[in-house]
Amino acid sequence: MARRIPEPFRIKMVEPIRQTTPDYRRTKLAEAGWNPFLLDAEDVYIDLLTDSGTGAMSDRQWAGLMMGDEAYAGSRNFKHLQATVAEVFGYAHTIPTHQGRGAEQILFPELVKRCRGTAPLFVSNYHFDTTKAHVEMAGARALNVLDARAFDTTTPYDWKGNFDLARLEAALDEAGDNAAGLIITITCNSAGGQPMAMDNIRAAAMLARSRGVPVVIDAARFAENAWFIRERDPAYREVEIADIVREMFGYGDMFTMSAKKDALVNIGGLCCFKDDVELFRAVQVRCVPMEGFVTYGGLAGRDMEAMAIGLKEGMEQAYLDYRIAQVAYLGERLAAGGVPIQTPTGGHAVFVDAKKMLPHIPAGQFPAHALACELYLEGGIRAVEIGSLLLGRNPASGEQEASPFELMRLTIPRRVYTNDHMDYIADCLIDVLARAPSVRGLDFEYEPPILRHFTARLKPN
Ligand SMILES: *Cc1c(COP(=O)(O)O)cnc(C)c1O
Repeated sequence: MARRIPEPFRIKMVEPIRQTTPDYRRTKLAEAGWNPFLLDAEDVYIDLLTDSGTGAMSDRQWAGLMMGDEAYAGSRNFKHLQATVAEVFGYAHTIPTHQGRGAEQILFPELVKRCRGTAPLFVSNYHFDTTKAHVEMAGARALNVLDARAFDTTTPYDWKGNFDLARLEAALDEAGDNAAGLIITITCNSAGGQPMAMDNIRAAAMLARSRGVPVVIDAARFAENAWFIRERDPAYREVEIADIVREMFGYGDMFTMSAKKDALVNIGGLCCFKDDVELFRAVQVRCVPMEGFVTYGGLAGRDMEAMAIGLKEGMEQAYLDYRIAQVAYLGERLAAGGVPIQTPTGGHAVFVDAKKMLPHIPAGQFPAHALACELYLEGGIRAVEIGSLLLGRNPASGEQEASPFELMRLTIPRRVYTNDHMDYIADCLIDVLARAPSVRGLDFEYEPPILRHFTARLKPN
């Protein structure tokens, strides 16, 4: 048997977490309206809601916090961050932001302004939800042209984050002057943290560039994507992660980044430009009233220091080997126990196919959400639904739409849980599988008009 990859760190500070009884959890879940989002975090034993901002910082990052320079303008931590961005990505111009969406809100209106057409369109492999929201708030449309193989959860394919290049080309041709930007999302979060191949990144960027369309990289999980390229593309087997990152970013003109993912900090973001000084200045002007002065962008000096250090730690080979192996390990344990999951597993999460696991629950009774509730009752584990509850009603007809997939996402925070925790998660879910036919669907008690998955209250039927 292949040897499991152990954690490449030792633990020098611990945060106690509390296991509770099934009766206690049933009471708390009922109080929370059968919506794990409404639970107190203290009542959760293992929290897999998101990998965003939930990672553990290293001793070096904590030491960096103590070196915070809280000058309003031109702090040394900004200088360090700027130099790190130049070194890692080859981009000369850096604007820090409070998180990824902060970068989106100051960039997209400027790209829309520069668009020659009157019906601006952004094309992406898949727009992340806040990215789509900011595209639309800037008055543009968001089109996804993901490779169709991504929607088939059972057939393995190495590059489920790829663009469908034929559809991309057709979309850019049709858009003409209305094409405001290409957004390359690496890894593709909404497709399950699935990677893009280097040749697909290159080809997509060239299609945009040859038409004068700016190329934006949505870079939250850039290091995980680089790891997959090294692992799966024989041409990159001997190439260092740092060099793969440089090549990927060489195909972009600018990037937005949520540093809460691969940059290993609890808060922070970036908006950076390779060489377009004019656009950089315009975005800086927008940054001041929205995020803060251009050398802090909503962050404390110490936060920028932790980010500068985290950007590099997040690219370390040993860390990435462990990180992605841990996600794969959870996937393998679940698959071996008969739990249907998306294969192959991506960078940051395991997706459980609730449609297959709970076939007796119809879309309108939210099978993946029911599964997440059941997993909490079983073991105090908090997961999140990516399915019909998240999708919502058709705005025109008011009908509940059936999502093409009903997935429960087990999102793994970085450097936080051990492989023993992974075993516990797998054991709990396999026990839920054994009693799957008795799991009931859910009906609304309170249904908010928008973004209802955050605050809805439900009840088993
Ligand atoms: C998290 C994320 C964002 C938004 O970043 P925040 O830091 O949550 O504002 C944008 N794009 C992708 C791909 C993400 O994963």
